[in-house]
Amino acid sequence: HTPTRYHLTDRQIIRTIYKPRDPFSHKGTYGHALLIAGSYGKMGAAVLSARACIRAGVGLLSCHLPKCGYEIMQISEPCAMCIPDKDTYFNTHFHTGLADARYKVIGIGPGIDTQPETARSFEQLLHSWQQPMVIDADALNLLAKNPKLLQLVPKNSILTPHPKEFERLFGPAPNDVERLALLSKEAVSRHLYILLKGRYTAMACPDGSIYFNPTGNPGMATGGSGDVLTGILTGLLAQGYTSKEALILGVWLHGYAGDIAAAEHSQEAMTAGDIITGLGQAFKEGI
Ligand code: AMP
Ligand code: MG
Repeated sequence: HTPTRYHLTDRQIIRTIYKPRDPFSHKGTYGHALLIAGSYGKMGAAVLSARACIRAGVGLLSCHLPKCGYEIMQISEPCAMCIPDKDTYFNTHFHTGLADARYKVIGIGPGIDTQPETARSFEQLLHSWQQPMVIDADALNLLAKNPKLLQLVPKNSILTPHPKEFERLFGPAPNDVERLALLSKEAVSRHLYILLKGRYTAMACPDGSIYFNPTGNPGMATGGSGDVLTGILTGLLAQGYTSKEALILGVWLHGYAGDIAAAEHSQEAMTAGDIITGLGQAFKEGI
């Protein structure tokens, strides 16, 4: 007997997932996350995902960045710590020093580009890192270019493709119904959480269930929205939420914050940064 396959996320589900903070907790309670993001010309993606991770409640955040992004991040987001790469323009050596820092979770992808050195470092990282991670954007494109890497992704990791990235990873589907079947098949067979972004983002779980998220609006169809989601998911995993909990709660909060941003600024004028600003109200009113 298989459990009900399709679910629509609602407030009741969200309330069972959300964990209020313990009054006696400290920043160690909420985990140290590592975010690998940014490259020359795409530092905005790194800043947005870092800010979102912090606003999602992470205990500590370190960002691995190309040298050119060091000052940009330190000035834009003083709450984040920075690890500058050897390389000026790209993240190429992020696979070292992982064990000593005792990171709870790694988020990788926003704005990293797909240079061969980045691919090599990603492969080494996947050989040495066995905890669930959040994989987005160009990190997904690196997996699509080299299916061998996809085999190495730790179980229970969260993959966050938009439809184009999904197609690069798992191939085309003739229609939405078959795309959902493919999504679920890949999540189950690889033991990964894979979401397909858009209106009613679909979240496929390794147990065969699929959740649909009702929050969000077309104002979120703007550069940087997805980078914000990556930061939120990384921040929730760091705090000890399971992959399934982080996914359902994170996608809900992201959309809810997007709805708050649209109410304040309009769908046209809202920016990905406004989604981050809306997160506070989303935590207070969306749960
Ligand atoms: P990305 O394409 O990586 O920037 O991600 C876009 C983000 O915005 C995803 O989380 C989408 O679910 C969300 N988004 C984009 N368009 C819409 C829409 N029409 N309705 C709701 N959410 C959307
Ligand atoms: Mg994206």
